[in-house]
Amino acid sequence: MKNIYICSTCGYKEELPGDGVTHHNITDCVKHLEAENKRLREALEFYADDKNYKNRKTKFGKLNLSHSQIELDDGSIARDALKDTE
Ligand SMILES: [Zn+2]
Repeated sequence: MKNIYICSTCGYKEELPGDGVTHHNITDCVKHLEAENKRLREALEFYADDKNYKNRKTKFGKLNLSHSQIELDDGSIARDALKDTE
């Protein structure tokens, strides 16, 4: 059975080396949280941006349809941002 370390502060996961000691420290923790914060902020900015709710012409085959970026996204940016935090 693998010995897995999960940081209770930032959620960082690693398989522990043979000595069973993590080398994850406070500096790594801050970097991990900063990177997560950046990813989540970028996703949130997409949903907060008014222009992403305005309809634009989109071409599907021979059809010209009108969709907003939010409709086209259908939550995928949020799901991707959350997946990266798991
Ligand atoms: Zn951590």
